[in-house]
This record gives sequence, structure tokens and C-alpha cells, in this order.
Amino acid sequence: MKNALWQTVLGEIELSVSRASFITWFKNTELLQQNEDEITIGVPNVFAKQQFEVKFNHQIAEILKRNGVKASRINYVINSQQNKKTATRSTSVSGNPASPASLADAMPPVSQPKASSRANSLNPKYTFETFIVGSSNDLAYTACMAVAKDPGTKYNPLFLYGGVGLGKTHLMQAVGNEIAKRDPSTRVLYTSTEAFVNDFLDCMRYKRKWDASRYRNVDVLIIDDMQFIAGKERTQEEFFHTFNALHQANKQIIISSDKPPKAIPTLEERLRSRFEWGMSIDIQSPDFETRCAILQTKAQLGGFTLSRETVEYLATIIQTNIRELEGGLNQLLAFCEMRGTDPDLQTAQGLLGNTRTTRPHHLTPKQVIEKTAKHFQLEPNDITSPKRDKHIVVPRQIAMYLLRSELHLSFPKIANELGRKDHTTAIHSVEKIEKSIKLDYIIRQQITDIRDKLYV
Ligand code: ADP
Ligand code: MG
Repeated sequence: MKNALWQTVLGEIELSVSRASFITWFKNTELLQQNEDEITIGVPNVFAKQQFEVKFNHQIAEILKRNGVKASRINYVINSQQNKKTATRSTSVSGNPASPASLADAMPPVSQPKASSRANSLNPKYTFETFIVGSSNDLAYTACMAVAKDPGTKYNPLFLYGGVGLGKTHLMQAVGNEIAKRDPSTRVLYTSTEAFVNDFLDCMRYKRKWDASRYRNVDVLIIDDMQFIAGKERTQEEFFHTFNALHQANKQIIISSDKPPKAIPTLEERLRSRFEWGMSIDIQSPDFETRCAILQTKAQLGGFTLSRETVEYLATIIQTNIRELEGGLNQLLAFCEMRGTDPDLQTAQGLLGNTRTTRPHHLTPKQVIEKTAKHFQLEPNDITSPKRDKHIVVPRQIAMYLLRSELHLSFPKIANELGRKDHTTAIHSVEKIEKSIKLDYIIRQQITDIRDKLYV
């Protein structure tokens, strides 16, 4: 009966995913348990577990629902062939069972669990040690370390913003884990804004008394994805009071959002200004070197060694965010583990090559120089000339930066493309732009604009 149900799910999934994906992820899975509203699926390894939680959970829940099974929760447990033992769930710092890591943060569960069941769960895997620092996130990392060392004293609130999958949740939970490690008596509460909003709205809806102390009797409040508060006026008001109570008592507040406070629509002015009291820092997309370092480290953690070409290949085809990078790597590793082969370049190309939107490879150094010049209404030979006029120097530095970040040219090659003999200028220019990107919003925007034009 159990397995008939799972076969039905598999049958439907098979129609909607690629053959490689189906074999990689769904072979060796089974339905282990079906209780009233919980379902437990056995999956072969940790990569598959992560993939199910992040990627397939929603789809599986939908199919189950269509087949008349309403599960409020689907658990994925590692069910290894040799040792049919369910993996123990991780526990949070506070001793409560943590919801599976990526499920809580990446995918809405089948139905909303009560906020209280997962509100203060910190995922122990998110630590500073497992966070790879590169030029796209080093400011955020440094600020988080400072807060972890001395919570409530400086950078209060600490506001982290940036696109999805760039490490905001990881970093802010790392702060929580570090604080709890240094002083286990510190009360750290991690919650998503969505859980806060739902908790508050439920109280209003069911006329329950709102328990403000839950969020106020803490030493550190970490609240993720603040953009969800947009448009929720009453919740904003309540959060305003929570914020004030904590701030006045010098309790640390850490907030994340996908955009800076001033860009969150319909955010009350008084909240916006409070969010800007402390420190706001953005996390950007990782550059090529950081992507490579992340892949290499994560592969090693999984017990694999990747060749340089394989790492560079993955870092080239997956550029947008770290979650996708991890997903691609895990898919490759799980596939190879199952087949008993090495994760080499050829396998990576076969498995991931056509499933991703690859950026065109025909981009040439000349095009980079032309498009950069055009963006600044210059001629390409202004860029390659030795002229030192101010309105040419910065575009030239940007062109060098793009030659490095987009085409991964060596410094001597960059110098050569610009008609220069000495490559130290290229090194300085690239470094200068890397620094400016962090501090100067306009330069950052200009580079994003040019980058977009490079790939049209
Ligand atoms: P966000 O909250 O910004 O959407 P997450 O913190 O959930 O992103 O990160 C997505 C995934 O990428 C997580 O598994 C996280 O551990 C990983 N990750 C992000 N940044 C880094 C990094 N710098 N080093 C190692 N892993 C990272
Ligand atoms: Mg997040």
C-alpha cells in the first residue's frame, strides 16, 4: 500500500524531470512511513536529502495531494543500503528539534507549521568555519564576526541584504551559533519574518493573546527575509515595538532582506529609519575565484576531490548564486557516487551541460572593450590608448576588471589586450575596481549594466 502510493508519485515525477535527474535522485528511494499527517521518505544519501528538501518537496506534496494524501510534513531521511537506520535529526542550539535545514529556509513546507515549533531553531551546519570568504561577502563576514564577538554593542541592528542564495541565512545563523557557543546561556532566537507575520496574524485571526515576550525576552534576535513584512501594516507596528524594546535593552538584532531598507516597498518610515541606525551591508554574487573555492571546499567536505577543469567548468556554467552552485555540485557528486565513478569534467558536462542556461562562450576581449567604451560613450581606442584623462581612466579600469571577471584572462593577457607592456597596472586596476564595487553604488550599477550588455 505504502509502496503503491510511492510508485504513483514516482510515475508522475518521471514524466516531469529529465532522465538523468530521475535516475540520480529517485532511484533507491522508498516510502518508509505514513502517519496521519506525516510522511517519511527514505533517500540514499545526504546529497539526495538536500535535493529533496530544497527542490522536490513541493512537487511531491502536490502529487500526494492530488492522490488524496494530505501530509502537513514530509520528512526525508537517509536510508543507506547497508545500514537501514534512519538518520537522527539534528538538534538546535536551544535543544528543540530543528526542522531540516534547507526546508525551513528554501521551500515553504506543505502547510505552515506552527511558528513555535521552529522559531528558534538554529541550524548547526551554518557556522563561520564553513563559510567561504571572498570579495563579494567579506564586509558582511567581518561585520558578522564583530557582532558575534560582542553582541549588542556595535552594529545594532546589523542589516544584511542581497539576492537569493548568496549566504545571508548562513551568515546570520553563524552569528547565532557562535554566540551560543561562546556563552550557552545567551538566549538566541532565529526566526523567519514569515513566521513572525504568521504568528501575529494567527493571534489576530483566532483572537489569541499575542505573546510579545517570545520575541522580546531574548538576547539576540535574528530575523530573516524582512522583505516579507512589506504591506503588513499591523505586523510592522508590532515589530516596531519589538525592535524598540530590544534595542533599548542593548540586545542584538540581526536582520536580512533581499533589498536594502529603502527599497522595501511600503515599509513604514519609522521602521526604515531604525533599520538604518546600525550597519547595512550587501552581499553580492560571488566572483569566479570565490565560486571555485566554494566548490572545491564543498566537494572536499563530501570526501571528493575535483580536478581544476571540473571546478572551473561548474563555476563557469553556474554564476548566479551559491545555492544553485551547491545544487549542481551535489547532483554531480550523487550521480558519481551512485555510479562509482569519479566526478570528472566529462561527467559534469554530460549531466549539467544542457540543463542550465549557459552564458555564450563566444565573448571576446575585443567585445568587452567595445561594450565598455560604448557604455561610457567613448571609442574603443580611447580605452586602449595611453591617455590619462579622468573620464577615460575609470572606464579603462572597468574594462580590465571585466576582462578578468568575465573572461578570466591572466594579468599579462589583460595588459596585452590594452596595448600595454607592464601588467602591474592591470593588477592595480582590477584591485581598485574590486574595492570600489564594495563602496560605490554607482560603479557597481555601471558594472552590472555593462555585464548585462555583454551577454545580449
Ligand atoms: P540566502 O539566505 O542569501 O538566500 P543561504 O544562506 O541560504 O542564502 O545560502 C544558500 C546556500 O549556499 C546555503 O547552503 C549556504 O550554506 C551556501 N553558502 C552561501 N554562501 C556561502 C559561502 N560563502 N560559503 C559556503 N557556503 C555558502
Ligand atoms: Mg535566506
